Amino acid sequence: MASMDGGFVDCHCHITACEFAEDLEDVIKRTREAGVKTLISVTEEPSEFERVIQLFKSYPDLVAPCFGIHPVQGCGSHDQRSVKIQDLEPALPLFQKYRDDIVAVGENMRTYESWWFLLTRVFNIPRLPSAHLRFVLRDNSMIGLDYTPWYAPTSQEREEQLTVFTKQLQISKDLDLPVNIHSRSAAKVTIATLKEQGITCALLHNFAGKPSVAMEGVQAGYFFSFPPAVCRNDQKAKLIKQIPLEHICLETDSPALGPEKHVRNEPKNISLVCEYIAHVKGITPQMVIHATSDNALRLFPKIKRLE
Ligand SMILES: [Zn+2]
Repeated sequence: MASMDGGFVDCHCHITACEFAEDLEDVIKRTREAGVKTLISVTEEPSEFERVIQLFKSYPDLVAPCFGIHPVQGCGSHDQRSVKIQDLEPALPLFQKYRDDIVAVGENMRTYESWWFLLTRVFNIPRLPSAHLRFVLRDNSMIGLDYTPWYAPTSQEREEQLTVFTKQLQISKDLDLPVNIHSRSAAKVTIATLKEQGITCALLHNFAGKPSVAMEGVQAGYFFSFPPAVCRNDQKAKLIKQIPLEHICLETDSPALGPEKHVRNEPKNISLVCEYIAHVKGITPQMVIHATSDNALRLFPKIKRLE
């Protein structure tokens, strides 16, 4: 499905990831050829903020920066550890400095890396050394809470996650920006926290909760995005069927969550998830592309300047 009308909005991807460092130009070319109009490019750590701004300056008509930090800091290094409140401090001036350039606030999660992190701590096994395998392990990236027991085994870790999460929600309110949310094993508390904090503009990326909990988010006006990995099986079909099209967006989470396991994902694969959602809902891909792009514009109004 090549470029159609308004084009696609990839609401969550990691274009700053090291997996794209060597052939970024080609990836961008294929992205444009596939009809992707906007890449909402999320970050994982404050050290990535400047890089995403640099890419925004190189591709101002395509890249839309989203700043955030995730609960495992030092990903890809030998010093992975759970996020602390102090980790937010170096990020604060950058949120202010680039407040006009960023289109959303989000933090990131890498659950599989977290499993690995815990395994290496518990069993003293060596760390995964090769950078090229990072995309295999990275999954479910984005802002929010991850209460997977082996990742956040203590209530203190969960409380600290919640504090970092709510502080970033506060930043989004101060900057009047939408939020890009990750939720795993924490669906109910994530949605309850968003509502308690008075968040009205939120995207729940690759949501891993029950349809009944998702519907609470729909009631609150939140949006849900799905990556090409949903095409691999019908695990999310029930959820996709139940969420009204007016609350659905598209994402790729590149380089993770692609149509094939262990293969680098690219934004060009967004058409696959579009076709899958169309199939599940019994409508045309054109209807999905129109609706999801409209939804993305409603949710991230600052991307309109990129048109
Ligand atoms: Zn991600």
